[in-house]
Amino acid sequence: MDLKTPGLYIHIPFCISKCHYCDFYSLTSISAVPHFLKALFKEMETYRKRFSPFDTVYIGGGTPSLLSPQQLEDILTSVRKNFDLMGDSETTVETNPPDLSLSLLESMREIGINRINIGIQSFDEKVLAFLGRRHSVKQAISATETSRKTGFQNIGLDLIYGVPGQDMSSWLDTLKQAVAFSPEHLSCYQLTLGTKTPLGIRCKAGEFRMPGEESQYEFFIKTSEFLEDAGYIHYEVSNFARETKYASRHNQKYWDHSPYLGLGPSAHSFRDNQRWWNHRSVDQYITSINAGNLPVEETENLTMEQLRLEALYLGLRTRKGVSLHDFKNQYQYDLFAEKREMLDKLREEGLISIQDGRLYPTQTGLAVADSLALI
Ligand code: SF4
Repeated sequence: MDLKTPGLYIHIPFCISKCHYCDFYSLTSISAVPHFLKALFKEMETYRKRFSPFDTVYIGGGTPSLLSPQQLEDILTSVRKNFDLMGDSETTVETNPPDLSLSLLESMREIGINRINIGIQSFDEKVLAFLGRRHSVKQAISATETSRKTGFQNIGLDLIYGVPGQDMSSWLDTLKQAVAFSPEHLSCYQLTLGTKTPLGIRCKAGEFRMPGEESQYEFFIKTSEFLEDAGYIHYEVSNFARETKYASRHNQKYWDHSPYLGLGPSAHSFRDNQRWWNHRSVDQYITSINAGNLPVEETENLTMEQLRLEALYLGLRTRKGVSLHDFKNQYQYDLFAEKREMLDKLREEGLISIQDGRLYPTQTGLAVADSLALI
């Protein structure tokens, strides 16, 4: 896999209802979907052939699985018309359990989607209700089983831990149930609450307390141990793969500073030292495209120092770590010489290891990856 091959992200900014913890921008009225899709196709035309062949397409959101099979097919048809895709491209769609009927899954396979990500979050009914998810445990199980039955050989399940009221045994039970399906990929995210989300407001009002740092750390370590014992590779802070080949090829691009093009409201793009992002509002996005403009809200030119800090921050979130040699070549900075004392200290504290010219986070290091990069 060429890590510098660009990836394509398409953002579908609609959801049937808002989950109580969600801080993402999405609309719960789907009346604008047809206008949005027309604008999206125009945006694709604007970038026509301006990126070399993609080897990943990631349709995320929001809730892309609320689109009809025809709408999903139209999106992929437009992608193929405007861009070159490599033969073995990874094509992922993010989905919600209640949407995954046998017929939708069969259509997805027919149009070339070969990876499916299911927002399960929990196999505990109480946790799902607290989070305000619109599905039940029964629907989560059925969605996963039906995906496999339809022939998907690359299934990812998203789960959330650190939910108030969720104890370790409930979380381990969710992990046990998830592993029983042998998904190729698991993402385990720690719950974080934006202050303006319904749960964030309730938390601020003192209705409940979020688990403390120690407890979050315990969840993190137990998750890593449980899934590694079950044969999964803990390859990034929140991500686990059954085999190396099942690590998300698309998400890897964000961590490796590979180029990516993001289409749709709020989508971010990156190439060389430039990052740009689209308007968040669907209305503004559509209006801008219909007026013949790119829907770009802002463009940022990253300095060598910014790129270097990002590369370190992102690299230390992955088990692959950072190659000191490549880092020096790419960012003109000898990490080993400049930060020797700090690296020795982190090594003594058991947070990193240095082997064969690479800097690796340990399991404990991964748990505090955000602060590791502050070296
Ligand atoms: S389905 Fe996902 S994007 Fe939509 S409200 Fe829930 S968490 Fe947010």
